[in-house]
Amino acid sequence: MNYIILGHPGAGKGTQAKKIAVKFGMVHLSTGDMFREAKKSDESINKLLSSGQLVPDEIVVNMVRERLEKNDIEKGFLLDGFPRTVKQAEELDRMLRSENIKMDGIFLINVPFEESVKRIAGRRVCACGASYHTILLPPKESGKCDRCGGVLFHRSDDKEDVIRDRFSVYEKQTKPLIEYYKESGLLIYIDGLKSESSVFEQIRGCIISGR
Ligand code: AMP
Repeated sequence: MNYIILGHPGAGKGTQAKKIAVKFGMVHLSTGDMFREAKKSDESINKLLSSGQLVPDEIVVNMVRERLEKNDIEKGFLLDGFPRTVKQAEELDRMLRSENIKMDGIFLINVPFEESVKRIAGRRVCACGASYHTILLPPKESGKCDRCGGVLFHRSDDKEDVIRDRFSVYEKQTKPLIEYYKESGLLIYIDGLKSESSVFEQIRGCIISGR
């Protein structure tokens, strides 16, 4: 089982991808998580992430290629945050063809723009990977992770001015992917405005029914 999860910033891709990967025992491959790790030791990546710009295609594609060469992807994988440009999608198609790997579906989570901004502006995260929202999903103790007790922080690219840049990057560079994938017949539209559990159920249902 191999899937891609698409959607603009704040659509809930990461949250759903983590849960789906656990549920079905797939590898959750998040390029955003990989770059958040890489930016700790790479100032140029740090600058791109902090300003909401995309990392150059060549770097992303090579990183994903290396990851897809590991044996654990045989149990299935869920790509979250990749591809993000048509060029990346073309490269992914090439990689999959050469390895004889087939995709089963591409989820597109739809959420209105205003709702996404609200979700991102209130998002607080922990280094352990847990994610909260100041109003929609507050931790038990303010500023502290329920799971590990770590200090929650506001991602630098979740601040209001950067959010706008991320949206314009999405419109220009990532949205054309929808047209690209429409022809594949693999695109599955998910209503992301519903509750987290309902969105999860929509995706789970599609996977179980072999979509
Ligand atoms: P995300 O957590 O998916 O929103 O990604 C956070 C940031 O990592 C993005 O704003 C980009 O700077 C970078 N990034 C993640 N995935 C990609 C990708 N496929 N192509 C280019 N840059 C990416």
